[in-house]
Amino acid sequence: MRRLRRIGIFGGTFDPVHFGHLRAAEEVRSRLGLDRILFIPSNTPPHKRRFGMAPAADRLAMVRSALRGRPGLEASDLEVASPRTSYSVFTLAKIRTLYPDARLFFLLGADAFLEIKTWREWRKVLDQCVFIVLTRPGSSLRAARSVLGPGYRDRTASIREAADLDNRLRAGRTILFFRIDALPVSSTEIRRRVRGGRSLEGLVPAGVAARIKSAKLYQE
Ligand code: ATP
Ligand code: MG
Repeated sequence: MRRLRRIGIFGGTFDPVHFGHLRAAEEVRSRLGLDRILFIPSNTPPHKRRFGMAPAADRLAMVRSALRGRPGLEASDLEVASPRTSYSVFTLAKIRTLYPDARLFFLLGADAFLEIKTWREWRKVLDQCVFIVLTRPGSSLRAARSVLGPGYRDRTASIREAADLDNRLRAGRTILFFRIDALPVSSTEIRRRVRGGRSLEGLVPAGVAARIKSAKLYQE
């Protein structure tokens, strides 16, 4: 039987995108053999914007620039192009119509997974794709693993390599914890550095740093 195409979905505010995101996605793609990973910056309507948040168009442009020349990683304007607040449950449904025959993998850091029960229709989201929960410096993968409680125990597992992934999926395990060589970088730290007039060298690709400068993002 033909192997289903494997599409990764990596959502976030990406305010801005940084090498921590890129490293995580590259590692998942190469080690787990995903065909492509979509970076999907969220849309946040004006009344819900965090103070100082960059406009969606800038966040998307920075993701596009960061992914240039990185095969298999792709920017998606799916959420930014929609006028409403982004909810994963809707985004997934749209992606499903774009890729009816693919297996969808939802990538997220352990810190983000800790919040899963606050997501709109979170049970449905968990049912609609395979979750790959990643190491994030400062957040424990173990704590993330216990957040769903006993009702989900038989659906969770940890994985170390592509072969584990296939075995786990065959056994019906779809909430998978994957230890990666994550970088201790956050957008919060980058915004703070911009405010302090400090260098972003080694934290974001040059095109992202250039956009932050030219669009005067994060200055207060
Ligand atoms: P902020 O500090 O504004 O929250 P962030 O660095 O956490 O920014 P987000 O856009 O919030 O970036 O994160 C998008 C996704 O990327 C989340 O699932 C998050 O857990 C994951 N992620 C962010 N940084 C890293 C990193 N350094 N290593 C692994 N995963 C990361
Ligand atoms: Mg975050």
